[in-house]
Amino acid sequence: MSDSSSANLVSSAYSQALEVIGQVEPRVAEATRKELADQRSSLKLIASENYASPAVLMTMGTWFSDKYAEGTIGHRFYAGCQNVDTVEALAAEHARELFGAPYAYVQPHSGIDANLVAFWSILAHRVEAPTLEKLGAKNVAQLSEQDWEDLRRELGNQRLLGMSLDAGGHLTHGFRPNISGKMFHQQQYGTDPETGLLDYDAVRAKAREFKPLVLIAGYSAYPRRVNFAKMREIADEVGATLMVDMAHFAGLVAGKVFTGDEDPVPHAHIVTTTTHKSLRGPRGGLVLAQEEFAPSVDKGCPMVLGGPLSHVMAAKAVALAEARTQEFRDYAQRIADNAQSLAEGFRSRGANLVTGGTDNHLVLLDVSSFGLTGRQAESALLEAGVVTNRNSVPRDPNGAWYTSGIRLGTPALTTRGFGHDEFDAVADLIVHVLEHTQPGTTKAGDTSKASFVLGDGVADKVRGASAEMLDKHPLYPGLELS
Ligand code: PLP
Repeated sequence: MSDSSSANLVSSAYSQALEVIGQVEPRVAEATRKELADQRSSLKLIASENYASPAVLMTMGTWFSDKYAEGTIGHRFYAGCQNVDTVEALAAEHARELFGAPYAYVQPHSGIDANLVAFWSILAHRVEAPTLEKLGAKNVAQLSEQDWEDLRRELGNQRLLGMSLDAGGHLTHGFRPNISGKMFHQQQYGTDPETGLLDYDAVRAKAREFKPLVLIAGYSAYPRRVNFAKMREIADEVGATLMVDMAHFAGLVAGKVFTGDEDPVPHAHIVTTTTHKSLRGPRGGLVLAQEEFAPSVDKGCPMVLGGPLSHVMAAKAVALAEARTQEFRDYAQRIADNAQSLAEGFRSRGANLVTGGTDNHLVLLDVSSFGLTGRQAESALLEAGVVTNRNSVPRDPNGAWYTSGIRLGTPALTTRGFGHDEFDAVADLIVHVLEHTQPGTTKAGDTSKASFVLGDGVADKVRGASAEMLDKHPLYPGLELS
């Protein structure tokens, strides 16, 4: 099918769908139209966002949404799941083949859910199962009250070592306020204070001392690649299970940009991910595991997950089929190339980047040299139509709320077709905004960490320059709503 006839189909499908929706609640139809217009007209640099294909989006809007399917493929607690079995099996097969994983579980509703599945699977496999075996019980229902109490205490007495939030780790990697920090005794590893890079010897020393059951690698805001072979070595040395959360860079793994030691799948016991960031699928999660963890991962629903979202599993199958193409591999390479262009654009204009650059899909810009907090920078950029998110930098003096950094990712604009020149221009626009933003003052007259004053005409100038690039690289080319 030609691009233009496909665009015509998509245009008429969405126009008609919005008409149907509008007959029931016109305000939802209106907001949906406006969301498309807003996304089309802004520079989306949020590192965790992307634009899924119309095929992926449409797959989510079907009657699969109406089906309950608790259980696993061919083994459901509800009748009539034959078609759900088909799409779940397809998604799992694509995931296994794409990532070279022995086992894939496609039910998690999001990345956090996938991590919860992984945690409980590790606890079930490493703590519960050996206890049951020792006691000669088949399942926990057969345990005496005392044995059950002892097991519960043991499950709550395990250790987790993950990357700290300000070094780029995720909340679910053992951050105290998160459930992961409450379920486990937790410790965190950071990055080298001089280079900002992961120091594997320091991770090893901490692991030797702390002896965690779970060692987590993976990140939300670390702009570099990780050597997962080294992380596995460390895990093996201390008897830990290596769990890798590749939520951010799954697209780079799928697209074979990260291979060898940088591909987590052959090295980790369990890999979790989202499907909607660089992987460009529907909003959802996924767990890949070595065979030994498969039975406990399979119990994710209803252990920690609500009933599977069949319409989203169907969309995962479509997205993973897309990710298996050469076109997707080329896209993944462009994500990484564009991140280099963006980083070079900042460096050449004198801006400070955490670790000095990037070799993945994101850069972390330290905005303190502009005299701003991350919150002020984020708000000023938004006023100029540049959508980013504020982020802590290592050992951030402004904490996790105001922060001193801005995280910028290339997956979304790369989907629109932005290349080297556009990303260089994006760096220029961002530096221009930040150079023309001043901190505001609080009611008491002190310097504020939140409010800001953007120079006259800056927002219009930046919006104008962005519009030219965005028009040249339209989102969903040819999609016109009637
Ligand atoms: N893991 C990592 C590394 C993430 O960066 C994120 C989200 O940003 C998540 C998990 C959570 O994903 P979700 O929002 O789908 O639950």
